[in-house]
Amino acid sequence: MDATYDAIILGAGHNGLILQAYLGMAGLKTLVVERKAIAGGGLSTLEDPRHPGFLHNTHAFFQRAITTMPWYADLQLELRGAHYIEPELNVALLTGDGRALEWWTDIERTIRSFTEFNKRDAETLRRWHEDFVPIVQDILVPESRSPPLPPDERRRLLERSSAGRRLLEVSALSPLEFVHREFENPTIMAGLLFFNGLREVDLRVRGFGHHIAALLASPAKAQMSRGGTAALARALEAAVRASGGEIMLMAEPTRIIVENGRAAGIEIAGERSIRARHLVASSLNPHQTFLDLLDAALVPRTLRDQVEAFRYNLLAPLFALNLVLHEPPRYRAAADRPELANAFMVILGLDHVDQFHDIVQHHEAGTIPPTVMWGACPTLFDPSQAPHGGHTAFMWEKLPYRLHGDAANWDQAREQHGREMLKLWQRHAPNLSDAVIDTFTRSPLDTERSLPNMREGDLLIGAFSNGQIGFDRPFAGAGNYRTHVPGLYLCGSSSHPGGNITGLPGYNAAQVVLSDLGIKSGWV
Ligand SMILES: Cc1cc2nc3c(=O)[nH]c(=O)nc-3n(C[C@H](O)[C@H](O)[C@H](O)COP(=O)(O)OP(=O)(O)OC[C@H]3O[C@@H](n4cnc5c(N)ncnc54)[C@H](O)[C@@H]3O)c2cc1C
Repeated sequence: MDATYDAIILGAGHNGLILQAYLGMAGLKTLVVERKAIAGGGLSTLEDPRHPGFLHNTHAFFQRAITTMPWYADLQLELRGAHYIEPELNVALLTGDGRALEWWTDIERTIRSFTEFNKRDAETLRRWHEDFVPIVQDILVPESRSPPLPPDERRRLLERSSAGRRLLEVSALSPLEFVHREFENPTIMAGLLFFNGLREVDLRVRGFGHHIAALLASPAKAQMSRGGTAALARALEAAVRASGGEIMLMAEPTRIIVENGRAAGIEIAGERSIRARHLVASSLNPHQTFLDLLDAALVPRTLRDQVEAFRYNLLAPLFALNLVLHEPPRYRAAADRPELANAFMVILGLDHVDQFHDIVQHHEAGTIPPTVMWGACPTLFDPSQAPHGGHTAFMWEKLPYRLHGDAANWDQAREQHGREMLKLWQRHAPNLSDAVIDTFTRSPLDTERSLPNMREGDLLIGAFSNGQIGFDRPFAGAGNYRTHVPGLYLCGSSSHPGGNITGLPGYNAAQVVLSDLGIKSGWV
């Protein structure tokens, strides 16, 4: 087959599909090439092969503020079947002594819950919330939705406003320093670091002190997709097809073709070549894009060194325990607090801020720390994800990719570790001793097997650390979605603003590509 498109995109995760839909709407003939049999990447929902009708969301589940994203409206995803649910009791941390720290979509209810633990901390929460609402709205949200500025230019701009100066001052701290400086109750500190910090950045690194305040003030609460996470992928696919785009599944590119110094197409296994008139955009990681797919002669030494130095997130890999149930987990703590029966994200095993040092040390050593885990029972909010009366639930735990020095050890350790997690879960929800019909686990190695762009099981596809964020993601000065090869672009989570289901790397890449092609569009 020899075909020609205007744009070829590598990887049909949500970022690739979002870029493709925008380019299609701008009139380009587009193709996305995907190695799996289904599009969506981390937007994945599997039907249980042993229990028909029970759905499991094996990658992303909690998605922040999807319904406020510009692409969600531009691509008319609700008309195409997407629907999001945002439970009011958004997060509950259940402590070992039977208490619960609660985050509500309504900040006043969150403050009331914090007051039960510590009055002063509750007031601190209120102050940071008020302080950061304008910073989030006027600075951080627009920054995430645009190609990043060079750091000096950004600093100069920020220094011109009091909100900008406040942001610079707080971000000079590490998240750990911020929490230790501002809060005093160990459970509140642990909860803030876990919920707001550990998911995204290395808590010890300076430059990220604003993250917790920003997440406290953010309108972006955890949401879930009705019908399973993959429903968003199906809506994105529909948007791509409506824009005239084509999706090629079970096809793996073997080479990016460069002719006369420009990206001119790809080769895929079976030696077929597909031509691109204007561009190739890769949503894969830097190792795949630059080292696996470009001819070595086209990769300058300095770039090769940068790719080899690109770091994946030590703390991002997840281990998952998935349950098939005949009733939802009934938490002991809900006896006194009935609202907990409808808690969305539940955190277990976390009582004290000092657990973080332990968790980090275990990750560095490749050993398993005492379990801290979080998860949900999706069917409480969306019964369509199981047959009538049935339920599914899952818990995730951050565990090292290289278990005892080698990721392959996970294949032996997996089932036993799943049993340990279930024991902790049963201590909090005793009915799980009888309610479980079946279980299965997935390790950080399984993540990489399923999505090889998530190298070392890193679901953020590149650490969030200084030198790998904003204008410097993936490499110093390379944060503008262009590469050293004209016509070759980046559009995945290894680019600004990074991993998780935000769609913003794809959205921002669309802005850059359309501007380079001189195409004015009303959308971006
Ligand atoms: C267990 C787990 C839980 C998670 N939970 C959450 C969550 O609750 N909330 C959240 O926001 N995020 C979560 N994430 C992270 C989220 O899934 C990712 O950050 C997100 O999917 C990245 O999107 P992307 O489009 O950049 O890449 P992906 O979704 O990974 O898409 C990349 C696509 O490229 C394809 N591909 C890879 N290599 C090749 C190749 N060589 N050739 C062709 N195609 C290729 C892949 O098959 C995939 O379809 C989770 C991830 C995991 C693993």
